[in-house]
Amino acid sequence: MTVQTKPNMAHHWMPFTNNRLFHEEPQMFAKAKGVKYWTPEGRELLDGASGLFCCAAGHSRPEIADAVHRQLSTLDYSPHFQRAAPISFEFAEKLAAILPDGIDRVFFAGSGSEAVDTAMKMCLAYHRATGNAQRTKFVSRAWGYHGVNLGGTSLAGMVNNRRDFAGITCDVVHMRHTWSEEQRFTRGQPETGANLADELEEICKTYGGDTIAAVFVEPIAGSIGTIVPPKGYLERLRAICDKHGILLVFDEVITGFGRTGSAFASQEFAVKPDVITMAKALTNGAIPMSAVATSAEFQAAIFEAAKGDRPEFFHGYTYSAHPVACAAGIATLDIYANEGLFDRAKSLSDHFLDAVFGLRNLPQVSDLRGYGMMSGIQLTPGKTPGETGSWVQRALFDEGLHLKATGDALIFAPALVSTEQDINDMVAILQKVLGRQI
Ligand code: PMP
Repeated sequence: MTVQTKPNMAHHWMPFTNNRLFHEEPQMFAKAKGVKYWTPEGRELLDGASGLFCCAAGHSRPEIADAVHRQLSTLDYSPHFQRAAPISFEFAEKLAAILPDGIDRVFFAGSGSEAVDTAMKMCLAYHRATGNAQRTKFVSRAWGYHGVNLGGTSLAGMVNNRRDFAGITCDVVHMRHTWSEEQRFTRGQPETGANLADELEEICKTYGGDTIAAVFVEPIAGSIGTIVPPKGYLERLRAICDKHGILLVFDEVITGFGRTGSAFASQEFAVKPDVITMAKALTNGAIPMSAVATSAEFQAAIFEAAKGDRPEFFHGYTYSAHPVACAAGIATLDIYANEGLFDRAKSLSDHFLDAVFGLRNLPQVSDLRGYGMMSGIQLTPGKTPGETGSWVQRALFDEGLHLKATGDALIFAPALVSTEQDINDMVAILQKVLGRQI
């Protein structure tokens, strides 16, 4: 295989790349297998981020490649408008079997961002259908990430993702995030902070609970660097939503598919939302796909209203339920089941979190957080925000570890197939880099 190592930088507008650094050559990945990446020069890197939380079953799985190849050469695309491919029903049924009880209606989209915007529209449609068309406001949380389409941009609690689009975004009120100083170095769910959910009650008082369509939260805030909900917090959000007739949406794009030790964080924390969004590990990251899942009652309310003179929820994407993505998804769910990867995540979590929390006394570490197979390593800030994060991300890459920096935090979330030795090897590189004085 010849790999072009020096890219022509003129044409590819790289996603999520710091505009000021655009002239710099990116770090290139040419090959991946299991928990490893290789650069075009053949240098090996451990993958401590499952790509971007996607490749839970490890990279380049032959089962998925075979299923995709088979599907591509049998039915490469199928249209909508009362038409569908059999494989889309098969996939939805398989997914329903692992979703929380009672959440078994599945709408497919192409990315996490599409799932979030779809879920927002679904919530509005539900309220319209049930005689509450005045519910048009959304609530989300500071530091939250819900993708980059206009709905998700409006929900964004990572302010840089929203700031420049003020004026064209939806009507969203933000609650505060759940991190506080006293939680520093808490492993698992913090004991205190459930009362932070009461801010939703305050928002209801200010704006009127009956103006709010839905609350969107990530059960564990992922993109900001793993913020674990305090004990009782999600339960309290659920209760306040119920009291005011507000829908609760869990954005499980990161927490879905075993990351917490259960199939979904909703099951792990035993709090049932009305709607779940998912993507990433849905197809093990191999083919772009996402989904929105809800209950039969929620769907029935919308369908019932659609008996009037117009459909209440006429929505979809050219690539919704793409047969090739469904094939990748079915092969992925089979791997998760055959290899017991959700249980494996639960049993590996102790070793993983022991290793993460072993970094506690290093000079570059100011906080550690973690749950299941996801963790956040807060770095000692430099002179400007994000400076330490980008320095550390580059230094780790040079030492052979792919991790994602988000501001001055690192996201460490290895594949669920990692061995204890893989985790030890990743943490040894972290020890080396985070032990340096900058
Ligand atoms: N929601 C959450 C919770 C996410 O973490 C992400 C992606 N990091 C998204 C939505 C958006 O997904 P995508 O990048 O596939 O559009």
